[in-house]
Amino acid sequence: VHTIHVVGGGLAGSEAAWQIAESGHRAVIHEMRPLRPTEAHRTEGLAELVCSNSFRSDDPNGNAVGLLHQEMRSLSSLIMRAGDAHQVPAGGALAVDRDGFSAAVTAALEAHPNVEIRREAVDDLPPESWGSTIVATGPLTDPGLAEAIRALTGAESLAFFDAIAPIVHRDSIDMGKAWFQSRYDKAGPGGTGADYINCPLDREQYDAFIAALIAGEKTSFKEWEASTPYFDGCLPIEVMAERGPETLRHGPMKPVGLTNPHNPTVKACAIVQLRQDNALGTLYNMVGFQTKLRHAEQVRIFRTIPGLENADFARLGGLHRNTYLDSPRLLDATLRLKARPSLRFAGQITGCEGYVESAAIGLMAGRFAVAEAEGRALAPLPQTTALGALIAHITGGHVAAEDAGAPRSFQPMNVNFGLFPPLERMPRNETGRRLRGPEKAALKKRALTDRARADLAAWIAGDAPRAAAE
Ligand code: FAD
Repeated sequence: VHTIHVVGGGLAGSEAAWQIAESGHRAVIHEMRPLRPTEAHRTEGLAELVCSNSFRSDDPNGNAVGLLHQEMRSLSSLIMRAGDAHQVPAGGALAVDRDGFSAAVTAALEAHPNVEIRREAVDDLPPESWGSTIVATGPLTDPGLAEAIRALTGAESLAFFDAIAPIVHRDSIDMGKAWFQSRYDKAGPGGTGADYINCPLDREQYDAFIAALIAGEKTSFKEWEASTPYFDGCLPIEVMAERGPETLRHGPMKPVGLTNPHNPTVKACAIVQLRQDNALGTLYNMVGFQTKLRHAEQVRIFRTIPGLENADFARLGGLHRNTYLDSPRLLDATLRLKARPSLRFAGQITGCEGYVESAAIGLMAGRFAVAEAEGRALAPLPQTTALGALIAHITGGHVAAEDAGAPRSFQPMNVNFGLFPPLERMPRNETGRRLRGPEKAALKKRALTDRARADLAAWIAGDAPRAAAE
């Protein structure tokens, strides 16, 4: 029997400890609450939901997070078991009674003979004497530990960000209006000179866009966010728009060095650029478009940009205090810190976003730690599964931000189909005719989720005997 320490008893830490304990090993959870609070937690329960009570869509055929639910259930997730048991009505979503949910997770771990829960803060790097340790202290990691991690990984590595830009599914951009081109056709490292997608606005469209930004409804600051200053290179676009109607035309929307092949003789008044955001080229982020507009407002206003009328957003912009690692650089494929492999990271601190995603990474961190302790190799998860796509997002497969002043390109992200490798062939319906619109999108999602289920089943079957027996 091996002992594995878990720092933080949130969504990720609780799930990691459960996976360890269920595999017959000992898990020691170190949770600082209630001795020390965070800015957002209110209780002393494990796996407390700090904001909404929703695990989002539960549809495993048409939604990536619904698929992730299903995958986690098939790997005996405690978070999903407690969520299912404490469900409240929410249409197609899985929403939970937050107190009942947290109490169920806490009770299951307290009752497990292989789990010990220590209510204490870890103020420095976990000691080497602990051996294998999972750090799952979340976006509100206590400052002492955050500082120690920063010192170990390098000053720039533990990012705090204020505002983030929206990310769009590439195949929802209308290339009849937009076009590929880098400013002045400049080819950066590994680039072709046509690395960006450009969307042009004429004067009338630009003026209306600026007015909409200024009038748009913004999210309100939490008190603890209000004291966080903006990074200078990372001002929300609505703040820039308020500084003067021409500010954005001279900033992220400047129209210079670009020629619209659909209309080469007319100079655009402003241009929105989108930059490839993942190695697969399925996601593009809106350069310089960090914002604290409300999500519905972002969808409404950004869809007025020519080429983005039907934009499907993989994530919307937002404002958070958030502590996360530059994981693709710092972590190996099994979530270990390269600089100190006895430390493994899990949850939102690795750069996933959301309750379910955090728990999912906790689940895998627990399994990786167990496999390592037992001296067996765990086959890499196929990237075609929701779990594998998330792990790939965290441990690699992203595009480095090359532009000075641009926000970091590795940003926390919810699971979404843009993280999955594209289908080799587009599915056809029974009639064999070319599909369009919603019918095509639904069939594509079905094909992606069917592929994920088949690949996860094969991974489970090919795993060590314990996993195969589950
Ligand atoms: P947490 O659940 O935060 O768990 C971390 C645990 O570590 C906590 O219990 C904390 O007390 C403990 N800890 C921290 N430092 C130490 C230390 N040094 N020693 C010992 N223990 C420590 N996601 C959604 O899906 N929906 C939402 O509505 C949502 N709203 C959010 C609102 C806010 C304000 C924030 C900050 C995040 C929100 N998130 C939301 C994002 C994210 O999904 C949650 O933060 C989620 O709880 C992350 O899971 P985790 O396990 O990584 O961290």
